[in-house]
This record gives sequence, C-alpha cells and structure tokens, in this order.
Amino acid sequence: VKKTGRNGYSFFEGKLNTLLSNQMSLETMLHKALDNHEFELFYQPRMELKSGQIIGMEALIRWRHPDQGMISPAEFIPIAEESGLISPIGEWVLRTACSQNKAWQNEGYKPVCVSVNLSVRQFKDKDLVRNISGILNETQLDPRYLELEITENISMNNEEQVLSTLQEIRKLGVKISIDDFGTGYSSLNYLVNYPIDFLKIDQSFVRNIQSQSSDVSIVKAIIFIAHSIGLKVVAEGVETEEQLNLLRELECDDVQGYLISKPVECEEVRNFL
Ligand code: C2E
Ligand code: CA
Ligand code: CA
Ligand code: CA
Repeated sequence: VKKTGRNGYSFFEGKLNTLLSNQMSLETMLHKALDNHEFELFYQPRMELKSGQIIGMEALIRWRHPDQGMISPAEFIPIAEESGLISPIGEWVLRTACSQNKAWQNEGYKPVCVSVNLSVRQFKDKDLVRNISGILNETQLDPRYLELEITENISMNNEEQVLSTLQEIRKLGVKISIDDFGTGYSSLNYLVNYPIDFLKIDQSFVRNIQSQSSDVSIVKAIIFIAHSIGLKVVAEGVETEEQLNLLRELECDDVQGYLISKPVECEEVRNFL
C-alpha cells in the first residue's frame, strides 16, 4: 500500500480501490465498520501430527462490507496499522476470539487453543498486557487456551522492550508463536532468549517442499533448531498429502492449511471440535 495524495492513499488493490471513490477516508470507513459490526472472525483449524487431533484454531479477521462483500485482511490490516485503528480492531479481535473459545468450552467441546495475530503496532502498545489480562478476566478463558502470533519484525529495534513485553505475556500464562518464520528479520539469539512456544514456518517454504530440495533443507533445519532449544513447530499452508507426509517424516509438530481446512465461519468450527 502506497501512502500519498490528499486522503493519504493513492493506490490499492481490489475492493478498497472501489471504496476509495467514496468521499469518506479509509480510516473513517474502518471506524464505521467497527461500529456497525462489519468485522467477523473466521477460524482455521490446526492439527497435531502425532495425534491427528485438532488442537487449535487461528482467528482470522474478515470485513463483510455491505456493498463490496468480504474484504481480506491483507487489504485493510496495513491501513488499520498505519492509522492507529489497529488498536480498537485488535482489541475487538482478541475479545471476540477469547469469548468465542470460552463459549465452545462451555458447550462441552474439547478445549482448543485459539491463536490471535498481533500486528507490530499492537505489540508496541503500552497497554497491551493490561488489555490481554483484562480480556482474559472478563471472558474467564484459561490463559493456556490463548496463543498470540507475532512476526519476527517486532525485533527490528528495542530488543529489551520486546523481551520484557514477551516475559509479561508469558507470566499471564499465554502462549507465544513467531508467525511467518523464515521470512523476516530474526537472529538465533532471540530465539533462545525470548520466551517463545512455537515457530510457524511460512507457507513459502512449505509450498514447494516436494520439488525443491533446498526448501526441504530449510524446513529440516528450522525444525532441528527449534526442537534443540525446546520450541515446537507449526507448518503453514499445507495443501497436499505429500507435503503432510514429508512434514511428518521431518517430525514437524503441527500443521495448518487447506488440506486440513480453509478458514471457516464461526458456526462451522464446532464440526472440528
Ligand atoms: P497469516 O497470519 O500468515 O495467516 C495465514 C493466511 O494464509 C490466511 O490468510 C489464511 O487464510 C491463508 N492460508 C491458510 N492456509 C492456507 C493454504 O493452505 N494455502 C494458502 N495459499 N493460504 C492459506 P488471510 O486470512 O487472508 O490473512 C492474511 C493475513 O492477514 C494473515 O496472515 C495475518 O498476517 C493478517 N491477519 C488476519 N487476521 C488478522 C488479525 O485479526 N489481526 C492482525 N493484526 N492481522 C491479521
Ligand atoms: Ca498467523
Ligand atoms: Ca503466517
Ligand atoms: Ca502471512
């Protein structure tokens, strides 16, 4: 997304482009969307390879626009992040995911861990830990059934601050995973020092794992290092049986991807629990 011009934005892909012909700024539109309950969470199941059980659900936001239909987070999250609106949106995601997970448990389903994506700006918010703790209290969700996904990019500067925030989150009993692992800025040093539970191997390494021997080597190395320092590994974007079998051979812990299921609406989640 490029930022220029009178209303701040000159170029968008897809549906936001159409919306831009409107006089309202995108910030205003996102604000209105929040007020009008146009955001929705989809959930993608995560399977533990050893047991074959669904042990988690990743919450993925969608914007159901009254005229444009579903708008993907890849389109509007970057804008929300730039405009600061990510804070109220992110808080809504966290609260909704926790309360939904608690509701499934109350209905008697086997407990699963719900994963929530945190953007860099959200992670740097000084109220983050207080908000998480407040939401856990309010929803009465056991913290071990919440996982936060952050990207390697949070470490770009201020490692001390990042470390102390991660430690506070860990103290709450919430799990932490590094999303899109292998695509960003990271150092082995952080992997050892940060209180992390999971690495999520980016789907770009999984995609050609059958045909590209270099990708096998990378995935193998990530799993080896992760296990050596006590972390578990999730492979993202698993679409074929061949990929799944190879990942099982490499002793990957969990998998997520269209092969197991695409992200589904809230009502459909119960079919997986
Ligand atoms: P992500 O966290 O890496 O999420 C994985 C994305 O890959 C999702 O796209 C998911 O639908 C897609 N995916 C899952 N399995 C497969 C597969 O087998 N093949 C392929 N080709 N794709 C697969 P989605 O839902 O469009 O989300 C895109 C990104 O938007 C997410 O990437 C995440 O970075 C961001 N995002 C989504 N929801 C939130 C949110 O609530 N807060 C924040 N801050 N970011 C979010
Ligand atoms: Ca994620
Ligand atoms: Ca990812
Ligand atoms: Ca991604």
